[in-house]
Amino acid sequence: MNIPFVDLKAQYKSIKSEIDAAIQNVINETAFIGGKYVKQFEVEFAELYGVKHVVSCANGTDSLYIIMKMLNIGQGDEVITVANSWISSSETIGQTEATPIFVDIDPIYYSMNIDLFEKSITDKTKAVILVHLQGQACDLDRIEQICKDKNIYLIEDCAQSHFSEYNGRRAGTVGIAGSFSFYPGKNLGAYGDAGCIITNDEELANKCRMFATHGALTKHQHQIEGINSRMDGLQAAILTAKLPHILEWTASRIEKAKWYESTLKEIPQIVLPNIRPNSKHTFH
Ligand SMILES: *Cc1c(COP(=O)(O)O)cnc(C)c1O
Repeated sequence: MNIPFVDLKAQYKSIKSEIDAAIQNVINETAFIGGKYVKQFEVEFAELYGVKHVVSCANGTDSLYIIMKMLNIGQGDEVITVANSWISSSETIGQTEATPIFVDIDPIYYSMNIDLFEKSITDKTKAVILVHLQGQACDLDRIEQICKDKNIYLIEDCAQSHFSEYNGRRAGTVGIAGSFSFYPGKNLGAYGDAGCIITNDEELANKCRMFATHGALTKHQHQIEGINSRMDGLQAAILTAKLPHILEWTASRIEKAKWYESTLKEIPQIVLPNIRPNSKHTFH
């Protein structure tokens, strides 16, 4: 029997009528780009996640790039991150023409080794892209403090950590901005590419929104040279239809992980994930 790595059909079947209606509405209203369904997703995701601003964009790679560009990161700057991530975390640093600096991970939780992070900071360091890999939240308290002391932007790559928490704070809400992917297989997935930026910084949110829409907040009023990185109305409507279920689905993932742990822990050849104390691991 073939067991799919991710079974996206099972989830669809469980909310088929809601998804089908959401798709039909977008088509009926030809709200394909921008418009009310994209706005609705931004408002509802901001409310559910507990942040002031959600800026939708085309995917979770663009969201990292847009954040860095709007923080004025570029040539001559260094951005620290880890190598054990999806390529986007470092690829986008190169896209801004800054230099990616890799620091090693710790062998217990597989996330950035904070002592090595601290040691790799130079006077060129502008930011750190912290990756909450596989749903495991990093030690945000300590990293936040170091970033404050050294005047470095903390950017959180939350593509694998929707609703993960460290010490009661959600991943993505601690740094200057959080970057999300809604790639179909992510914990909150669209039916195509989609992503967003979350931030409590209004100025950064406005800049990101402008940059992602050709540098124009109002049609034909181009204030900066931007890019085309928009979330489709269809993806926004599908994501909005999933929002009422996402916390329950996340809790269910955690329950299933517990079952795997209790079932597999006696097998010496298998190393199970260690869950960081004081954190909520969401098991991407
Ligand atoms: C998936 C992923 C991304 C990129 O997201 P896309 O939407 O596929 O561009 C970035 N970082 C991490 C850690 C990811 O897992």
